[in-house]
Amino acid sequence: MSEQARAWAAAAAVPDPEVPCVTVAELGILRWVEMRGAVAVAGVSPTYSGCPATAFIEMAIEAALCQAGFEARIERVLSPAWTTDWISDEGREKLRAYGIAPPEGPAGKAALFSAPEVSCPRCGSRDTAQISAFGSTACKAQYQCRACAEPFDYFKCI
Ligand SMILES: [Zn+2]
Repeated sequence: MSEQARAWAAAAAVPDPEVPCVTVAELGILRWVEMRGAVAVAGVSPTYSGCPATAFIEMAIEAALCQAGFEARIERVLSPAWTTDWISDEGREKLRAYGIAPPEGPAGKAALFSAPEVSCPRCGSRDTAQISAFGSTACKAQYQCRACAEPFDYFKCI
């Protein structure tokens, strides 16, 4: 395995601090890892602006690279901006299995403030209602399914 592949594997395995069932690679937050001389540089995109997890994620990726034996540096990649479209299919599956409804389009800032139609991650019913615009974190909204009465978090679409 090349140094770069090894560095990518170490960084990509870092779980998201807010949704530990998915990795930063599956969420699309980790954009690239490249070797610059002996230094592994990881490009990281912040998710929701103002999301306090961003600094934590950067630290966790840096720590993972250090643990793998690399001198590490993080570069914040602001453009193009991250959207929920970048969450991989595998990441979406894991979110659903974890009981979090993955984001459904259309992406856009407006979606943060409106209540989109969301499928229940447990039974798949679309008969769901938003209980609160903010769930366990600001990135999620709280929903309840009317079909099976399951409350769940919805990963907001941006
Ligand atoms: Zn349900």
